[in-house]
Amino acid sequence: MPPLDTLGRPLRDLRISVTDRCNFRCPYCMPAEIYGERYEFLPREEILTFEEITRLARIFIDLGVEKIRITGGEPLLRIEIERLIADLSKLPGLLDLTLTTNGVRFAALSDALKAAGLERVTFSLDALDPDLFKRMAGRDEPPDTVLDAIHTAEQSGFAPVKINTVIKRGDNDGEIVPLARQFHGTDHILRFIEYMDVGTRNGWQLDHVVPADEIVSRVHDALPVEPVEPNYPGEVARRYRYVDGGGEIGVITSVTQPFCGKCTRARLSTDGKLVTCLFASDGVDLRSMLRGNASDEEISQRIQNVWLERDDRYSETRTEATTPDAFRRIEMYQIGG
Ligand code: SAM
Ligand code: SF4
Ligand code: SF4
Repeated sequence: MPPLDTLGRPLRDLRISVTDRCNFRCPYCMPAEIYGERYEFLPREEILTFEEITRLARIFIDLGVEKIRITGGEPLLRIEIERLIADLSKLPGLLDLTLTTNGVRFAALSDALKAAGLERVTFSLDALDPDLFKRMAGRDEPPDTVLDAIHTAEQSGFAPVKINTVIKRGDNDGEIVPLARQFHGTDHILRFIEYMDVGTRNGWQLDHVVPADEIVSRVHDALPVEPVEPNYPGEVARRYRYVDGGGEIGVITSVTQPFCGKCTRARLSTDGKLVTCLFASDGVDLRSMLRGNASDEEISQRIQNVWLERDDRYSETRTEATTPDAFRRIEMYQIGG
């Protein structure tokens, strides 16, 4: 039986951030003016090794974790990431192994990731307009890089893929319909994410958020959609399908219709901290246990104790007063999306 937290939620999913570095500077995640040339990312010795990650993953799976998502930072910047994928994919009991990427390095690694046992991949794509894409990515890269990566993923056998789009009012809300049209008629699932007040450095304000209902109604006006039942209990994205049979989209309503009651996710930061909420101010250090000769049993007990005490439900209690700078918070790129 997986441990249940104080709100009765089991531990089912683990997101692992394998690097705090990124080749993009999306202003809502790693604004270039803060993460410039001189910014000091974690030194190598502070980052969990593949062996350490795999050992922890095994312990988490024994505690009930069924799904693992590899993220970052940009996970494909981690050298030999396919070696980690190969190790994780062999762990008994793991039902789903996925990865989220900005796509820049994907095409070169696609076949190797598939061969290593990666099952699914999610791409992030915030705009199709080349100038806007550059601004949203904070780098001089064309959106075609991501579209080509999606195409390569199809050829390697990853289809259908998911595509994540964060919508920020006044920046890329004009891309909602063009993006819907781009993937309409394919098996790929475009998922619009409400812009969140993660971290402390993106200057988030409530009026930057385009509510999911508005996103869906904008799509509906161009390409009519209807709601679909969740794939499984606890699915956080709300699903809609095109009434003409052109596939489906999802919306992640983290701000306007929070789903903390269904949140079964733990996160492992690049430097080995167990984090129980995207909005946590800190995590619990597991790396010192790994490097201090703790047994699997001791580490497992520590994780269970943290989970049993978990009472996080930030998105259900969010107000203007709690955001964005009211308290210290872990940044998104340290723990993944
Ligand atoms: N670098 C990879 C990527 O961008 O796909 C993986 C890590 S990134 C932190 C994971 C996801 O978090 C991305 O889809 C990104 O758009 C999303 N994200 C980052 N900051 C966000 C924010 N403030 N609100 C909502 N989603 C955010
Ligand atoms: Fe990098 Fe992903 Fe954050 Fe963009 S959202 S800066 S690609 S980690
Ligand atoms: Fe889970 Fe925290 Fe997000 Fe709520 S705010 S859904 S507890 S990560």
